[in-house]
Amino acid sequence: MGAREVVVVGAGISGWAPARTLLPAAAGVRPLDRGGRPGGRMASRRFDGRPADIGASYLTVSDDDFAAVVEQWRAAGLARPWTDTFTALTPGAEPESKQGPVRWGTPGGIRTLVEALADGLDVVPGHEVGRVPRRRDGALEVDGEPARAVVLAMPDPQAARLLDPVAHASAHTALDVEFEPVLALTATYAGRCWRDLPHGAFVNDDPALSWIADDGRRRGDEAPVLVAHSTPGLAARHLDDPAAAGPELVEALGRLVGATQHPEQAHVHRWSLARPTRGREHATYLLTDDLLGVCGDAWSARPRVEGAWLSGRDLGRELVRRIG
Ligand SMILES: Cc1cc2nc3c(=O)[nH]c(=O)nc-3n(C[C@H](O)[C@H](O)[C@H](O)COP(=O)(O)OP(=O)(O)OC[C@H]3O[C@@H](n4cnc5c(N)ncnc54)[C@H](O)[C@@H]3O)c2cc1C
Repeated sequence: MGAREVVVVGAGISGWAPARTLLPAAAGVRPLDRGGRPGGRMASRRFDGRPADIGASYLTVSDDDFAAVVEQWRAAGLARPWTDTFTALTPGAEPESKQGPVRWGTPGGIRTLVEALADGLDVVPGHEVGRVPRRRDGALEVDGEPARAVVLAMPDPQAARLLDPVAHASAHTALDVEFEPVLALTATYAGRCWRDLPHGAFVNDDPALSWIADDGRRRGDEAPVLVAHSTPGLAARHLDDPAAAGPELVEALGRLVGATQHPEQAHVHRWSLARPTRGREHATYLLTDDLLGVCGDAWSARPRVEGAWLSGRDLGRELVRRIG
């Protein structure tokens, strides 16, 4: 690390947007992440060699700049329009077809999109940053080294933990968006043994599940894999031992989709900070006078993948303007 470098902590999608914007302007950009690979909540995990998306389910696109990025992913074979129609499952009611915007899926797993953004920029993986203090000379410091600017591209509670509540009092106070947890169940069956969804289902008024994705349809290989997301309430009760929620999640999934078999494999992933409980209408990033920036999905009126990218892009542009 060096005093002329911009350090980007967080290699999810909101971290790569400023990293790429800054590259031509800054003397150096150093992306760090405590995880083993880029992606953050755009996460895919392999089951018997096949990736399943266990975090973000799909992308939606409304902004022209983001559409251009998605078009590059599409041209590279990384993203494809998945569907504009899901099912709504409500107890006591017939399944209902719900049309909405086009949702984009990925043949190779949603993480591949972030890996494509990261291409050519070395991320330091497995690097957990503990604190971002301000030095006596006013410079910011990451792991004992001065930095020209620091970007925290992550959920508010994670960013707040890195800041001194006195030295960065106003930034610390501004990081007030809470996040709710989700458990993601990946269930691999011997065959496609459930009633047609046809692509995915929003689940209403169920104590265990809120969303079910047909991962085979999403990926386009028709593999018999479902990924189901828990309600925040169920996740909150099992944060200490997410695997213990497995049987309850498998039972709820089987009941809701009418599965005629038990899954061969069932894996539960814990997202302690899955989604912001609210977005921000009027600010897309935070940037202090000493060039500490914060971006991420909570800095968006619609806290989704697209909002996270736009937040990072806006912060990157402003940093380029300030760094000059
Ligand atoms: C279960 C689930 C379902 C979702 N479904 C959808 C969906 O269908 N569509 C949609 O658009 N969005 C969805 N989302 C939201 C979407 O995933 C996020 O909006 C987006 O990925 C946020 O990106 P980010 O870069 O802001 O944060 P993250 O992806 O969380 O990235 C933050 C990064 O910071 C790193 N980090 C944190 N603290 C430190 C530290 N101290 N040191 C080093 N590194 C650190 C983390 O390891 C992480 O990689 C979903 C999310 C979840 C969890």
